Amino acid sequence: MKNDFLQHVAARIGDNCVINVNYLPDNVSNFYKRKIKGIFRPNSLTALSQIVNEAKKYSGTRLHPISIGYNWGLGSKEDIADGSYLIELDNINAIRKINIEQGWAIVEPGVTQGQLSTLLKGTGKMINITASSAYSSFLGNALDRGVGLRHQRTEDLVGLEVILPNGKIIRVGWWPTEQHTAIYSHGVGPSLVQFFAQSSFGIVTAGVVKLHSRPELTNILRFNFSRSNLIPVITTLQHWVSNRVNSGVLKIYDSTANTTYGGIDSTYTVHMCIDGLEKDVYAKTQHILEYCEISDIFSNAVASQVNEDHYPGSDIIANLVEAAHVGDTSFNDVLLKKTLGAKHDMIDKTDNGWIFFLPLLPFTPDALLKAYEIIDEIHAESGILCGATINALNEGVIDLVISIAFNKKSEEQPRTLHALDLLHEKFQENGFIPYRLGVNHSEWASKITPSDSENDFIRELKSLIDPQNIISNDRYL
Ligand SMILES: Cc1cc2nc3c(=O)[nH]c(=O)nc-3n(C[C@H](O)[C@H](O)[C@H](O)COP(=O)(O)OP(=O)(O)OC[C@H]3O[C@@H](n4cnc5c(N)ncnc54)[C@H](O)[C@@H]3O)c2cc1C
Repeated sequence: MKNDFLQHVAARIGDNCVINVNYLPDNVSNFYKRKIKGIFRPNSLTALSQIVNEAKKYSGTRLHPISIGYNWGLGSKEDIADGSYLIELDNINAIRKINIEQGWAIVEPGVTQGQLSTLLKGTGKMINITASSAYSSFLGNALDRGVGLRHQRTEDLVGLEVILPNGKIIRVGWWPTEQHTAIYSHGVGPSLVQFFAQSSFGIVTAGVVKLHSRPELTNILRFNFSRSNLIPVITTLQHWVSNRVNSGVLKIYDSTANTTYGGIDSTYTVHMCIDGLEKDVYAKTQHILEYCEISDIFSNAVASQVNEDHYPGSDIIANLVEAAHVGDTSFNDVLLKKTLGAKHDMIDKTDNGWIFFLPLLPFTPDALLKAYEIIDEIHAESGILCGATINALNEGVIDLVISIAFNKKSEEQPRTLHALDLLHEKFQENGFIPYRLGVNHSEWASKITPSDSENDFIRELKSLIDPQNIISNDRYL
């Protein structure tokens, strides 16, 4: 028996866009299933607009928007609390317009990173790819401040179209006009594109995405080191990053991460992109290879020149990292299958469990030593061994991607949830705060926001913009 609001909306937008269920299927993290009131899968902006406008008439209605919902490790499609309607936007999936020469594309929430990658193949432009599935949403990931191989995805968003809780549709940031204007997201006055990232101020219906020029030459260097050399290694890598030796996000997979993501190395592996003008790339590559050759901290250094027709090697991680740096998603789902044993549409349904914890650290040897000390403590306390990839976003910031792979049906399942709580507590105690949160830890948002006045201001804005509290993805409120 459908509830009133579901029936009301079904009569307006069509029965096939409305699903009467009380729970979502399993999620890959085995977080408890919230009770929901139903699912809407609108296939047009008009239908979505009708849902938001009708919601205002049903007091207490809460709408939880997702794009494709592959937020694996942080809650997948789950909301933070019971009682909302899930709004799945995967059927709103047009690439409305693209101008390769000027370097922009207008995409809807259901557009995947794989679709954009394919469209740009053979052109002078590419997008910033993440290591997640080719079938994940470009916009969804960017709105949660996901991180690509080149940089954090929010930097790729230059304009947004948003349905506000009052039903009004607005456009913020840069949008193409008949004249060729410079792509600049801030405009004049308050800068609003970032206002809608990690927020519950509206439902984003389209975004203008920046396309990036392909460099003349791209090399990916790969070399190993052992944990005992963490101090000199981090000192050296920080020096290289701060002197702009590399481009994009410098990535290190530790020994546990190498195993869980299906790499062949049993130690720590650095993946470093050097790109730009051909002669500069040759010179920098030579310099790093020579350094690795004579140093006693790095070993097994190799350089691969990558382009769209790159021939894959034997390491699943290296294949992904190399291809993704040139905007190619061909290897993303190979790594996903190796890591979680399933295709993208089955990830939430198998017994293979996955949890992410995503703190930011200063790019210093001390911070990394402390982080590994905490990971060891948690291993001793809970028996759960976390893997980590160390991602240098810039000369000062490490995005430490901590993952736990587990079996949902085994006795280790409750211990993984305990380990996740410990990660939040122990990292926060040391000033290492997460930049994204999972559905089970939304209460940390106000704890880690440095000032109470900022928390108050965000809540005041929420009550002004959404007085009926219709939009429910409040993970960061
Ligand atoms: C093996 C593996 C590798 C991964 N690698 C990466 C990686 O390199 N980088 C990375 O960032 N993540 C990574 N992930 C995590 C995750 O899979 C990605 O972040 C994925 O892109 C998120 O799913 P989605 O793009 O479909 O976004 P969604 O799940 O649709 O959206 C994410 C969140 O954004 C908000 N949102 C989405 N759409 C809207 C909207 N239209 N309006 C308002 N709010 C909205 C919602 O709160 C939603 O929960 C990885 C996961 C795995 C398992």
